[in-house]
Amino acid sequence: MATRTIGFVGLGNMGGPMAANLVRAGFAVRGFDLDPASLETAKAAGIGIAGSVPEAAAGAEAVVTMLPAGRHVVEVWSQLTAAVPAGTLLIDSSTVDVASAREAHALADARGCPAVDAPVSGGTGGAKAGTLTFMAGGSEAAFTAAEPILKAMGRSVFHCGAAGAGQAAKICNNMILGISMIGVCEAFALGEKLGLSQQALFDVASVSSGQCWSLTTYCPVPGPVPASPANTGYKPGFAAALMLKDLRLAQAAAGTAGASTPLGAEAERLYAAFDGHGHGGQDFSAIIHMLRGPGEQP
Ligand code: NAD
Repeated sequence: MATRTIGFVGLGNMGGPMAANLVRAGFAVRGFDLDPASLETAKAAGIGIAGSVPEAAAGAEAVVTMLPAGRHVVEVWSQLTAAVPAGTLLIDSSTVDVASAREAHALADARGCPAVDAPVSGGTGGAKAGTLTFMAGGSEAAFTAAEPILKAMGRSVFHCGAAGAGQAAKICNNMILGISMIGVCEAFALGEKLGLSQQALFDVASVSSGQCWSLTTYCPVPGPVPASPANTGYKPGFAAALMLKDLRLAQAAAGTAGASTPLGAEAERLYAAFDGHGHGGQDFSAIIHMLRGPGEQP
C-alpha cells in the first residue's frame, strides 16, 4: 500500500511531537516551521523538512497546522488554499478565536477543500504520549476524513458540530478549568488560615461535592497528588500565560455572542494580574501563591 503523506505547519512544543506521532503511525510527514531549531528537532524525529508552506503541502492528502494564534492560521491557510488541489483535507489544531477558525473554514470552502478546526486538550505531555483529546468542528464528511489522522495523535476525538464548534468547545472547557482552579486554590488558602491540613481538605473534597479535575489531577499544593506540577516547583504543565490566552478567547467570544460570563471575566482578570507579576511561565496552578495574598508570593 502506498505511504500516505501529510503536510505539517508549526512544529513547536505541541506540533513537533504531534508530527512525530504521525511518523510513528506510518505516515510520511513533510513539515515546515519558521524556526530553524524546531526544524532540526523535527528532522531528528523522521519528519521531512520543507522550505515553505506550499512545499510542505505538495502532494499531501492532508495538511495539519499547529500555530500560535488566529492571525497565523488565517495567513498560513491563505497560502495553503492558494497552493493545494481541491479536495486536500485541512486540519487546524491550534487554539484560536472562533471568528478566525470560521475565516479559515471559508478559505477552505472557497478552494473546495474539506476542513476541520480540531483544537486539543492535554498539553505537551499529551502531545508526546499521543494521548491528546481532539474536539473538532466541520462537516460530517470532513470529520470522517480527519478522524484517523487525529487518532494517530490522540486518544479521544469528538465531533462537536459545524465550523468553529471545536474552538467553541475548547474555550468553554478551559473557562471551566480556569475558574475551577481558582476555586480550588481559594479553598486551600482559606483552609490553611483555618488550621485545616492540606491533606485533610484534599481527602474530604476529592470524594465530596467539591471534587473536580483541578483538585484530583492537578492539585495546586504539593503532596496529595504526587504527579501535579505543585510537586515540581510549578514547572508547566500548562503555563499560566496559555491559560490567560484561552480565558481572553473565551471573553472575546462571550462579548461577540452576548453571553454573560462574570466568573470567566474575573478569572481572566486574576490570570492577567498573575502574568503581569511575571509568572506567566509557571504552571497555571501556581496562581495559589497570588491568591494567598501579599507576602506569600513564590
Ligand atoms: P509554540 O510557540 O511552541 O509553536 C508554534 C510554532 O509555530 C512555532 O515553532 C513557530 O515558529 C511556528 N510558526 C508561527 N508562525 C508560523 C508560520 N507562518 N509558518 C510556519 N510556522 C510558524 O506553541 P505551542 O505550545 O506548540 O502551541 C501551539 C498551539 O497549541 C497554540 O495555539 C496553543 O494555544 C495550543 N495549545 C498549546 C498547549 C500547550 O500546552 N503548549 C496545549 C493546548 C493547546
